Amino acid sequence: MNHIMNTYGRPPLTLLRGKGSRVWDDQNNEYLDFVAGIAVNTLGHAHPRLVQTIAQQAATMLHCSNLYHIPKQIELAERLCQLSQLDRAFFCNSGAEANESALKLARKYFYDQGVNRFEVITATQSFHGRTMQTIAATGQDKVKVGFEPLPIGFKHIALNDIHALTQAIDKHTAAILLEPLQGEGGVNLATPAYLQAVRALCDQHGILLILDEVQTGMGRTGSMFAFEQANIQPDILTLAKGLGGGVPIGAMLAKKAVASALSPGTHGSTFGGNPLSCAAALTVLTVIEEEHLLENVCERGQQLRQGLEHLKARFDCIDEVRGQGLLLGLACNKPVAPLIECCRQHGLLVLPAGPNVLRFLPPLNINTSDINEAFLLLEKSLNEVTT
Ligand SMILES: *Cc1c(COP(=O)(O)O)cnc(C)c1O
Repeated sequence: MNHIMNTYGRPPLTLLRGKGSRVWDDQNNEYLDFVAGIAVNTLGHAHPRLVQTIAQQAATMLHCSNLYHIPKQIELAERLCQLSQLDRAFFCNSGAEANESALKLARKYFYDQGVNRFEVITATQSFHGRTMQTIAATGQDKVKVGFEPLPIGFKHIALNDIHALTQAIDKHTAAILLEPLQGEGGVNLATPAYLQAVRALCDQHGILLILDEVQTGMGRTGSMFAFEQANIQPDILTLAKGLGGGVPIGAMLAKKAVASALSPGTHGSTFGGNPLSCAAALTVLTVIEEEHLLENVCERGQQLRQGLEHLKARFDCIDEVRGQGLLLGLACNKPVAPLIECCRQHGLLVLPAGPNVLRFLPPLNINTSDINEAFLLLEKSLNEVTT
């Protein structure tokens, strides 16, 4: 442990195994997992179909490099493009890398046209990753302190304020980068009306709309991608977290006319889209479909939301229930760290989204009784921390 760089303030908890929506620690204590590896374990833990796919693919071929064609990658690109109505996919290994790719693509797209547009507008409270470029894109100072000078070319505006966005656009604006539902930054929803207005502004000015669905993609909000619920289309879309169900993979999708700016040699990734991660992602998509998980997200999301509303009515410390599908936030009027700790001691894992918001991200296949059990544990914990 002394040899691990201290980048996470961890509680004294060591998880060793999981099954479905439950995990067990090194003392064999059981927990309900409403963190799901931060929206990564889409199908819960040890889903038999995913286990089988990974074992089979490992026995066939783990990796062979993007220097050659990869059938599973071709198939995954086709499926994701079909689902998103976009045309081309680039695969990488993480959310930050997917966003880096999107930012590079936006620049190259305008460079190729001989147009000096390089600036990207993002929202305050956004989160786009931990690389230099993506912390510059992120609308929160806490990720930037100590890392200056940061890459230039980013402006931040308040979410859902179309006037502020209109004001921020100038002749150097290349793209607007938004999360349709901010995860890490507090579970803040970009309203459909706002997203539609943003889309119209982008069209009007010839600016690219990049949606960061690293957390909201892959069914998390009840549709395969959150943008569907606003009835808009991005020019570029980024995915990661839940895409591989726990196997690291990121993706950037784009419209054909935009994607063509990346020609051979302009961008790449050694591991990106290797046979193992693409096989895993294909199985995640298949299981989402075959087990009707989008419906489950909508129904269980409703159940979770209603239960949280009931708790809100009973506990003064709760201000608001917000979010979509199975990305829900319980906004409190005080820090939630003690509540998270108390929940953990009672066997429920939840995470924060900023200091005052409790975030729930259970696997997409969570069932009714596990959610009911979570309510009991949460209620018990609320009672203890508020008295
Ligand atoms: C987690 C997250 C990222 C960063 O993903 P990594 O895989 O940690 O690099 C980017 N954007 C959003 C919206 C995220 O939730």
